[in-house]
Parts: sequence; C-alpha cells; structure tokens
Amino acid sequence: MFNVFLVGHLLIVALDTLRDQGFEDPLRKIVEEVSPHVSGFKIGLSLLLEKGLGVISKVKKFSEREVIADLKLADIGDIMITTLKLLASVGVDAIIAHGFIGVSDALDKLIAEAEKYDVNVILVVSMSHRGSEKYIDKHFEELLQDAVQLGVHGVVIPATKPHLITQARRVLGSEVYIYSPGVGVQGAKPGDALCAGADYEIIGRLITTSLKPSSVVKTVKNIQLERVRECRGSL
Ligand code: C5P
Repeated sequence: MFNVFLVGHLLIVALDTLRDQGFEDPLRKIVEEVSPHVSGFKIGLSLLLEKGLGVISKVKKFSEREVIADLKLADIGDIMITTLKLLASVGVDAIIAHGFIGVSDALDKLIAEAEKYDVNVILVVSMSHRGSEKYIDKHFEELLQDAVQLGVHGVVIPATKPHLITQARRVLGSEVYIYSPGVGVQGAKPGDALCAGADYEIIGRLITTSLKPSSVVKTVKNIQLERVRECRGSL
C-alpha cells in the first residue's frame, strides 16, 4: 500500500510524452515543478521506451511521490514477474496490469511476487476508449470480483464512465483504491471521477503539453477540492 493518503492531493500525473521546451532536463523540470501538488506519477510505456528504465529512478530522485509503472501488463505470470523484477530494481511503487488476462497462472502469480518486492498491483478493469465496450466492459463485474478476490491495491476505471466508478465503489468498499484517467484531453472534468467515487484522477497531456504545468496543476487541484467539498461535503 502507498504509505500515506495525502489529503488534498487527489491527482496523479501521467508522464507519457514530455514537452521539450528547450530545458536541459525536461523530465526534472516537470517533476520538480508539479511534485508538491500531486500524489504521484504514472510512467507510460512510450516514455519508458524513449528514455529507458532509468526514467523511473530519475523521477524517484526528483520527487518523493509514488511512481506507478503503466505497462498495462498482459502476459503469463512468469513473464510478468520478469518485468516486475526489473521495475522493482529501479524503485517502482506500483505496477498496472490488465484484469482481462485472468487470475490463474497470471495475476495470481504476479500479485504473490509483487508482495515480496513491496510493489502494489493496480488492475485495469475498464478503459476510456469506445472499443473497451466491445469486450472489456462486458466483463466489468467479473473483473471487479477478481480484483476483490486478489486483494489488489487498486483498479483503473476511466473518469469518462462515472457510472462504472460508482458501481465499482459499491462492490470494492473502501479497501481498494480507484484511479481514474480521462480527465482533460479525453473529455472528463476535474472532480467528475472523484465525485463518482474515485480516489485519484490521473491526468496526462493537459499537464505535460502545457507551457506552464504547475499552473495547470494548481488550477486542477482547486477545481478538484471545490467539487469534492460540494459532492462529499468534506475532504
Ligand atoms: O493524456 P491523458 O490525460 O489522456 O492520459 C491518460 C493516461 O491514462 C494515459 O497514460 C493512458 O494510457 C492512461 N489510461 C487511460 N485509460 C485507461 C487506462 C489508462 O487513459 N483505462
């Protein structure tokens, strides 16, 4: 589990691409700039391929916040474990895997091994693109049951489908964290997912392509807090 739930920090920044604004180290700039206002960083496959595994150690060096590796793992257990060990060696706090691959010989093995390395596992149980409706969303309830059975740290459910977040919160109780991408470029507004029952909103391009990431983050944070006060009555 993440060490602390940082009250007031309801945002995870998705680092998939970086805007090279002529800074010597664009990664360091954005991470240091937004770090005081966020709970963590989610590193995507594209950034990992572009910069290498060292990108995770760098983010850990520039910030004390949690780092989630989002490779959306979807393989047999033994192979996912090989990836897990590489990610654990550079200090990753959590990894994301697809729920649709199933429990036996896949997620069960991954989760057992991840516990040994003190790495949290977060399952994708729905996606924000329309294609998710054709297969993944049809099995949403079963994926939630798997998440409960496995005792995962969290699940990913898009902010663009708030009804699924609310449904998941009922099934999962308060033990499993809900992470919601889809705010900003994909159409959801800051606070939509939080008011539906999510714990964190994940935002990428709205922040990473901005000329002033810290001011976008501060604006998002203020809107989130205002919305949460309205819909939950308190933080
Ligand atoms: O740039 P944007 O804010 O759309 O980034 C959303 C991030 O969340 C991306 O890293 C994307 O891979 C991820 N994601 C998503 N929908 C999911 C799972 C992950 O958009 N269901």
